[in-house]
Amino acid sequence: MKSAEIRDAFLKFFESQGHTRVPSSSLVPADDPTLLFTNAGMNQFKDVFLGADKRPYTRAASSQRCVRAGGKHNDLENVGYTARHHTFFEMLGNFSFGDYFKRDAIRFAWQFLTAVLGLPPARLWVTVHVSDDEAAAIWMDEIGIDPARFSRLDEDNFWQMGDTGPCGPCSEIFYDHGEAVPGGPPGSDNDDLDRYIEIWNLVFMQYERQPDGELVPLPKPSVDTGMGLERIAAVMQGVHSNYEIDLFQHLLQAAVEVTGARDSNSKSLCVIADHIRSCAFLVADGVIPANEGRGYVLRRIIRRAIRHGHKLGQKKAFFHRLVAALAAEMGPAYPELVEQQARIEKVLLAEEEQFEKTLDKGMAVLEAALVDLKGTEIPGAVVFNLYDTYGFPADLTNDIARERGLTLDMGGYETCMEQQRARARAAGSFKVDYTASLNLEGDTDFLGYDSLAESGKVVALLSEQG
Ligand code: ATP
Ligand code: MG
Ligand code: MG
Ligand code: MG
Repeated sequence: MKSAEIRDAFLKFFESQGHTRVPSSSLVPADDPTLLFTNAGMNQFKDVFLGADKRPYTRAASSQRCVRAGGKHNDLENVGYTARHHTFFEMLGNFSFGDYFKRDAIRFAWQFLTAVLGLPPARLWVTVHVSDDEAAAIWMDEIGIDPARFSRLDEDNFWQMGDTGPCGPCSEIFYDHGEAVPGGPPGSDNDDLDRYIEIWNLVFMQYERQPDGELVPLPKPSVDTGMGLERIAAVMQGVHSNYEIDLFQHLLQAAVEVTGARDSNSKSLCVIADHIRSCAFLVADGVIPANEGRGYVLRRIIRRAIRHGHKLGQKKAFFHRLVAALAAEMGPAYPELVEQQARIEKVLLAEEEQFEKTLDKGMAVLEAALVDLKGTEIPGAVVFNLYDTYGFPADLTNDIARERGLTLDMGGYETCMEQQRARARAAGSFKVDYTASLNLEGDTDFLGYDSLAESGKVVALLSEQG
């Protein structure tokens, strides 16, 4: 089954179960400063879950474009390293707003996977939250899941969209890709390897997380589910990695052509094919490269892609040339890509031309520093100099470091950044860098910039944070 057919089968199935088909919303969340980019299908329904907005339907289904490259859900560092993570992906979801709850959410999911898609139950593993006896009973007694493929987990089975907002316990369905792939079942020590891949998360929305951490019950228990289209496509197409599915074949081929790569198996090609999707869609949705906020995240992704092209030997601008292949592949589902192709190419090319000027020199500076390196940690001052003088975002430097088994001294980098801020303050300038709080563990402390637009406030906030 092609990806487009799976998307269609999903939406048709849920329509036949009384759900209204709702189009994907923009990657830039409307009026939500707590959220960097749309990271799940439920985002556009946040206020409906909270009881602050009403819709003419109580059941909905969508295929939502998502970007996870910052904020609470950040997979930027996973791209190129796992078989299952993208910065941009499509999330298939069905939603109940105070209509059905756990029983039907579980039944629908099982029916879709086993009856509509015809997946063998013996390949499917299920988890629920440790505290969730109700969901456990439905899986055991009504669905008849084999207890050998069932477990109760803690943090992994509690989902929230951000530090605040709707949340609740969840139940997840995994697909076993078979013995040939290393990795243990959900909940085991090595469950992060890619043998058992999470395909679908059923969230039982019950609470709203307050800024102080308190959980307040929602007006009505609801359901929010999310299944990655690329992951289920991999299962249906009998391949292990998302990058092997139909959607990626032309893109990867185009990446080989525009970079002139000699090794068509290089993981840099996957990184580039992934990044063109997030970058092109972000530009289509109105984001442009900038030094702060959402635009800086876009800039980081573009520069990362350029660096991978550089690594493959391409020293000229290539990234913008992939927009045509992407528009050909995804244009039927997302006509805005075709309509905006020329604009997207222009924005990406401008960024390529700008970074081209410093990339080579920055790489030379880094290589020279590595010759002198004692130990395996790149000093913070080097990371800072690359950032400040050569436009290398810290995560880009980290990407290079990781390829060579090295790490970054992020503490030292922060210190340099703070010193620069102090100098700027002393000079009476209020130029502020949001990226200072970049945390390589995967969380970018995104403060929400709508409310922070006034520089005075930002400085106050940043100095409170230390
Ligand atoms: P993982 O544990 O594999 O990182 P997750 O638990 O973070 O996934 P959820 O937040 O539960 O993912 O999102 C719902 C579904 O969206 C997942 O079950 C998966 O199918 C899909 N998904 C999540 N993150 C990605 C990603 N970065 N790329 C592709 N698909 C994803
Ligand atoms: Mg994740
Ligand atoms: Mg997970
Ligand atoms: Mg999950």
